[in-house]
Order: sequence, then C-alpha cells, then structure tokens
Amino acid sequence: MVVGELAEGIDLLVVGGGPGGYTAAVRAAQLGRQVVLVERNDGESGLGGTCLHVGCIPSKTLIELADARASLHRLAGRGLRVDEPGVDLGAFQVDKAGIVGRLNDGVRRLLAGAGVRVVAGEARLTGPNRAAVQRPDDASLFFEFRDVVLATGSRPSDLPVLPRDGSRVLNSTDALALEELPRSVAIVGGGVIGLELASALHALGSKVSVVELAERLLPELDPRISSVVQRAFKKRGIDVRCGVRVVGDDGTRLALSRGDKEEQLAVDAVVVAVGRNRNVEDLGLEAAGVTVLDRGEIKVDGQRLAASNIAAIGDLTGGPSLAHKAMAEGMVAAEALSGLPSVFEPAAIPAVVYTDPEVAVAGLSEEAATRDGIAVTISTAPMSVSARGATIGTSEGIARILSDRDTGVVVGVQLVGRHASELIAEGVLAVEMGATLEDLAHTIHAHPTLSEAVFEAARSGFGAPLHSPA
Ligand code: FAD
Ligand code: NAD
Repeated sequence: MVVGELAEGIDLLVVGGGPGGYTAAVRAAQLGRQVVLVERNDGESGLGGTCLHVGCIPSKTLIELADARASLHRLAGRGLRVDEPGVDLGAFQVDKAGIVGRLNDGVRRLLAGAGVRVVAGEARLTGPNRAAVQRPDDASLFFEFRDVVLATGSRPSDLPVLPRDGSRVLNSTDALALEELPRSVAIVGGGVIGLELASALHALGSKVSVVELAERLLPELDPRISSVVQRAFKKRGIDVRCGVRVVGDDGTRLALSRGDKEEQLAVDAVVVAVGRNRNVEDLGLEAAGVTVLDRGEIKVDGQRLAASNIAAIGDLTGGPSLAHKAMAEGMVAAEALSGLPSVFEPAAIPAVVYTDPEVAVAGLSEEAATRDGIAVTISTAPMSVSARGATIGTSEGIARILSDRDTGVVVGVQLVGRHASELIAEGVLAVEMGATLEDLAHTIHAHPTLSEAVFEAARSGFGAPLHSPA
C-alpha cells in the first residue's frame, strides 16, 4: 500500500464471483460474517463466473439443442414424422443469453438477500490482510480484511502452434458464442471440453474431427470407459485421431504429426480445448505469503486454508476443475474461516461428461484404487439390460462398479450411456455411505428404468445376474 491510501476495514473478502466464490460468500454471511465480494467481470453481471457465463450453462444449453436434434433423428423411424430439423445458432444465442441472464439474476438476488456487498473490480492482495481493487473506471479501492477467500478460477490454455483469432481458431468461449455452425471443425483436445463440443457440433450437423495427443480419448478416465466412448463417437461418424499432434496450420488445413508421419486435415474452424490455466498470476500471492505449486495450484490444507486467514477454492486448488467441487470447497472455506471444524474430504466427487452417450464417474478409478493399495472387484453390466433403454431407442453403454475385494464396499462407480449424469447420484451416495455391492444388489430399482443397469452390475458381482449371462 502506498502511504496515504486509506483502507476500508472489512470482515471477510471474497475474490471472484464464480460458483466457488458466491457459495463461500453466502455461507459466510449465513454464519454472521460481513462479506464483500469483488468480481472483475462487470461486478454483479459477472456473478456465476466461468460456469454460468462461458462454461457449464452455455455448454449444456447447446448440448440440449444437439440432443433434441439427435432424438428427432432417432425417433424418425419409430412413428414420429419429422422434417429435417434446421439449426439457427443466432436464435440459440438469444435463448442462451436469456437463460444466463435469469440465472445471473438469481445469484445476484441470493447475495443481496444474504447481505453480501458486491464490488466491481479486479482485486490483488498487497499483504496478508490487505487488498487493492482496481475498479472498471480505473479508480482504486483499498481493503483491510480479517479473512479472505480466493476464488479466481481459470481460463482456457492456448496452443502456440494455433494462435486464437476468434473467427477460425477458437477457444471454448468462442465456440459457445458461434452464431453460425461451421461446416467442418477440428477439435484439438479429446478431454472433457473437447468431447462435449465435438458431440454437440456433430449432432447439430458439423463434420467433426477430434485430434488428441494421448493414445485415447478422455485419458484421465479408465481405459475401458474411454474405449466405449471412442467406439460410440466413431459409430456416429466423428473422425477420431488419437496419438496425434498439431504441428502447423496454413489457414485452411491443419498439419498433424503421428509419430514420424504427417497428415493433413482441411477444416473451416478449429477449437482448441487442451486444458485450462489457473488465474493466479496477478493476485499478489507472494505478498500474502501463499505457496503456489506446479501449474499455478494454490497449496491448501484440508480446510482449504492457504494461511491462517486465507482460503483458496475451486479451480485454483488441486483436484478436478468442477463447479460442484468449487461450491463444496466454498462452504468448507467459509465455515473453517468462521471457526467451524469443517473439512473437505469427499469420498466421491462425481464427474460427468455430457457427450452422447454421457459418461459419469464417482469415487476411485482402477488406477487410483491400485495406487491406494485396494484390490477391487469390477462388476459390470451393459446398459442394454435395461428395457427402458430399448424404449428410448438406445442400448449402448456400460455400468461398472468397483468394490473392495475383501469387504465388498463400493469404492467407485462408472457409467456410460444416456442419462448417466442423473444415474450417477446413486453411485455417489453408495460410495459416500460406504454401501456394499450387496446393498446395491438388494435394493429394488424401479422398472423400467436405466438404473436397472446399476442393479444388474451389482448382481453380476455376486455371480447372480438376472438379465445377462452369468
Ligand atoms: P470461476 O467460475 O472461473 O470464477 C472465477 C471468477 O473470478 C470469475 O468470475 C472471474 O471473472 C473472477 N476473477 C478472476 N480474477 C479476479 C480478480 N483478480 N478479482 C476479481 N475477480 C476475479 N464444471 C462442472 O461441474 N460441470 C460442467 O458441466 C462444466 N462445464 C464446463 C464447460 C466449459 C466450456 C468450461 C470452460 C468449464 C466447465 N466446467 C464445468 C468447469 C467449471 O466452469 C469450473 O470448474 C468452475 O466455474 C470453477 O469455479 P470457480 O468459482 O473456481 O471459478
Ligand atoms: P482436459 O484436461 O479435460 O482435456 C484436455 C485434453 O487435451 C487432454 O486429453 C490432453 O491430453 C489433450 N491435449 C493436451 N495438449 C494437446 C495437444 N497439444 N494436442 C492435442 N491434444 C492435447 O481439459 P479441458 O477439456 O480443457 O477441460 C478443462 C477442465 O474443465 C476439465 O478438466 C474439467 O474438470 C472442466 N470441465 C468439466 C466439464 C463437466 O463437468 N462436464 C465440462 C467441461 C469442462
């Protein structure tokens, strides 16, 4: 702080109004704290962060459109007469803006109702108890706080070989803002963002290629799950290229290298989705005595504390970059800074990939179980055991349950198939509650529902499957 600057004394400062930041702010206010939340993206209009404005909500809105189109195609031969459904991304953008606006309004009202003061501006720590905020009109504000929650999130990573121009070479934010569907598109990165966009753009009518550096799609997930997704993508006509690196772009064609061989890929648009960078650079972390680990991850303890009065949450911390993880950490951080004995120790953080078919996992993967020294039994059932799958016209996918070989306790659940995003809640609860395979196998599941595939997988673990060969 420069001598002569007057700092306003405040109780708790939250930096960033995404899912992590606004949840922390609301929870802290519920606990009687006086909270000021600083958001750099237009203050109140930016509340909701990446997730609401350029992430979860815009992408799921686009995916809903794509799903509806795919469903119409599926039902066309089954008694529904449909003309080829057209796609108007301009109209989609208007609809999407309405949804984002309404949800932003909801967050705004939530914070106002809790008594949180929202300030527009970019915050930077200038010491362990001080922050400077640069307002949109370039004026500065200074705060002296008791506690602070850092929740500044992340942004798309760039690929030097493919500099973003916002018209042909896009990042995920640009892709979700498209007003016209590209005839052909290469998605560089076969992770979560890349595959969700690939799946949606393909279903809307683009010719889609996925270029992934690793040897398989979704390399973070178990290979069995990747292979089901990869097969489904290829079956739909998506061009999947794994083990491939982009080495050049002449404005119409990408140059790809696969080992020592080169390939060309002519495309109208390119979406770079190769991961995200944490927003830590201009936060003044050094001045505040906060430790930054590899790749910008802020070092925190179980209570999400980076120092006795400084918490960090959401995409800034280790673990998966997910909105629900950020929110859960936000609650823990607010409670910990308010003297409650809260800890962030989930047994299962669900992760969903909203592709067609959907992927949903919770708990340990095979690799993580091995790393933790847990010998697991893997019980599986194909989604085709569910009669409901036949009625909705899809039988592809798989349910896998990982249970401790000695105790039968369920340690992980992995699903691929339609509505896996909803079905995974049972798996999350099973892992969190320490349910056994037997508990799942003896729980009556409604018929006909897709959840019967989870039931069948549990039964097959006992060697007593009902609808599939033992
Ligand atoms: P953010 O949401 O990134 O919010 C950080 C906020 O801090 C921003 O509003 C930013 O403007 C503000 N900020 C940054 N620096 C400062 C500063 N110095 N001063 C003041 N304000 C600052 N997750 C899911 O769980 N489900 C999904 O379906 C899903 N889909 C996604 C789709 C896409 C395309 C993308 C990109 C992400 C998706 N995610 C999804 C991930 C999810 O969006 C993030 O994990 C989540 O938003 C992280 O929340 P956060 O609060 O940590 O940070
Ligand atoms: P990611 O880490 O999931 O995937 C990036 C992919 O790009 C990886 O498969 C990686 O091998 C590949 N890659 C890296 N460099 C490459 C290169 N030069 N050429 C080709 N491929 C390359 O990252 P993401 O897809 O950008 O997503 C970021 C995070 O956002 C995710 O980890 C996820 O937590 C979150 N997210 C969640 C959801 C959801 O919950 N449904 C949706 C979107 C994003």
